[in-house]
Amino acid sequence: MPQRQLVASTLISLVILTSACSTSESNSLKEPSPEQVTVTDTTTKPTATPSPASTIAQPDSTPTSAQAEEAKVKYKMNSSYRFEPVTADAPDQMVLLTFDDGPKDTEVLTRILDILDQHQAKAIFFVNGYRVKQKPELLELIADRAQTIGNHSWDHVDLKKESEASVRKQLEDVQVQVKSIAGLTPKFFRPPFGSGSDTVKTAAADEGMLYMTWSNGSLDWDAAAKNKPDVVIANVMEQLHPGANILMHELAWTADALDTLLTKLEKAGYGFIDPATIDLKQP
Ligand SMILES: [Zn+2]
Repeated sequence: MPQRQLVASTLISLVILTSACSTSESNSLKEPSPEQVTVTDTTTKPTATPSPASTIAQPDSTPTSAQAEEAKVKYKMNSSYRFEPVTADAPDQMVLLTFDDGPKDTEVLTRILDILDQHQAKAIFFVNGYRVKQKPELLELIADRAQTIGNHSWDHVDLKKESEASVRKQLEDVQVQVKSIAGLTPKFFRPPFGSGSDTVKTAAADEGMLYMTWSNGSLDWDAAAKNKPDVVIANVMEQLHPGANILMHELAWTADALDTLLTKLEKAGYGFIDPATIDLKQP
């Protein structure tokens, strides 16, 4: 049962833009610092005080259920999109696994899901609405395997360049779609190319989602990694840090890399954050 747990020539540029996450991501991927990660982000720094919009991200609930929610929360995201423990029993040597731009391929997705299970690992699958529309059964598969579904916009467009109305539609349509297919509403949002704005952040909050980019880019979408699982693994391990927010994609060579990568992470003393234990309050 699905529950809550849920970037030459113009031609080359076009190909890259339409294949995976692009220039914006490449600029920020190698440098997980907050300044780099937010290079496409012209908005002001988030404030510590929750805005009215982020209050909406936390729907009203009875004191009892609020306490239950509180008890489940073990990690909070900081303004660099990294995770920090909020309870004494929560280790800090943890990473969040994420897979963007699916769902696309039954075989690749199934391998990823199987490997996650073998490592008792949870992840967020940031999906695009146009892909879900093509293969709704793969969205169900993610939910049935008790993994978390995140919203990555309908069309994988650069939302910073879109009107507010368009931004809201890109987000809302996926919320409605996922709800109708998987019976749950995404609680996490990642903008395509890591490209956001105040408008995008507000729209995500209004839809009850925690907005994030990443702090550790696997560069699995880059030509240098194509069919090279070892490159994917090396990229992640070089950027490893406590609370890392690891960006990967639903790609065959990432699936090829995953078992070894997770084993290396475990040997380095790292565990995997269950998205269900993440505080949804925007930092
Ligand atoms: Zn993407």
